[in-house]
Amino acid sequence: MTERVVIIGSGPAGWAAAIYTSRANLEPLVVEGAQTEENRQKGTLPLGQLALTTEVENYPGFPAGNLGAYLDSSIEEKKRKYMTPHDGHGVTGPELMELMRQQAKNFGTRIMTDDVVDVDLSSHPFKLKTLGGKEVKALSVVVATGARANYLGLESEDRFKNAGVSACAVCDGALPRFRDKPLVVVGGGDSAMEEANYLTKFASKVYIVHRRDEFRASKIMAERALANEKIDVKWNSVVTEVLGDDNNGVTGVRLQSTVDESQTEEVEAAGYFAAIGHTPNTDFLKSQLETNDKGYLIWTTPARTYTSVEGVFAAGDVADDYYRQAITAAGTGCMAALDAERWLAEKGFE
Ligand code: NAP
Repeated sequence: MTERVVIIGSGPAGWAAAIYTSRANLEPLVVEGAQTEENRQKGTLPLGQLALTTEVENYPGFPAGNLGAYLDSSIEEKKRKYMTPHDGHGVTGPELMELMRQQAKNFGTRIMTDDVVDVDLSSHPFKLKTLGGKEVKALSVVVATGARANYLGLESEDRFKNAGVSACAVCDGALPRFRDKPLVVVGGGDSAMEEANYLTKFASKVYIVHRRDEFRASKIMAERALANEKIDVKWNSVVTEVLGDDNNGVTGVRLQSTVDESQTEEVEAAGYFAAIGHTPNTDFLKSQLETNDKGYLIWTTPARTYTSVEGVFAAGDVADDYYRQAITAAGTGCMAALDAERWLAEKGFE
């Protein structure tokens, strides 16, 4: 059997593409990723990066706070009485992803819980191989595999992974080893602010280590972090080593000033969280699609999700090193679905 549309990836881009292509009766197959330890460590489990976050406040349609009270107070009584009551709390990342997955399933999307590990895009139909040993043939492909968190690349980071080093506060922050202990977050973007704020729920103190003297993060996120009494910022500093031993795991970090390299400092900490940006998940493509200099897939036509191979479309963070938001990923997932649908029709694949 040859699939009409295979969607690789299960973040907002993947599910939006699935919702649209399934409503267009294209019976899409989503390869959502495998539940492996390697994927857990890399941060590439099914449902993508949003499944690793907490509250989502900026996805339109899900205001933070008590959704029921919000609807009651902001919508006229005569309209409100026909709407469902809600007593929830807005939405969290994992909930939003489960809702998207279910929405795609409701329209007949089929789901394979597996990783695509190899593709052959040189002939048509395209061929995909999975970690579980399956071979899938596809008339069109939507690549929506997203991006994963980076580490600094220190040997000592590797040594203490699973022993106090992490790139996901939401996944690991509640572990007993971090309770009531000082922790370090590296980075100055929204992720660093979010992780640091989240970790203050468990830690005695959180140090944000940032290499410059101002944050890259959005104003609201930066202000929230700076106002948090448990957060201290180590400005103009980089981590040169994660300190620790085999019995305790991480015990601290060595910092170096970016202003005067001779200035170093040791900070005691039971955990080290990297929040320094992302790498697109494209290894399985083995360079068969054109990328930019940072490795992100490129759209070959402006405002179209076409890649360098006809019939292969790219959506979400794997093709976006600039916006990287849930809403933009979902938007481009929709675009890729419409592009695939039109391309299949043009080529006469009904
Ligand atoms: P980012 O915005 O690219 O920030 C990465 C941070 O890490 C920067 O401050 C950067 O420093 C620092 N950094 C990078 N490489 C480093 C290195 N080798 N050594 C030391 N520091 C290093 O990444 P992000 O924070 O993951 O955010 C990615 C996107 O997701 C953004 O568009 C963001 O708005 C979005 N996001 C949104 C939310 C939200 O709205 N709730 C939450 C999380 C993420 P410099 O500043 O000096 O370059």
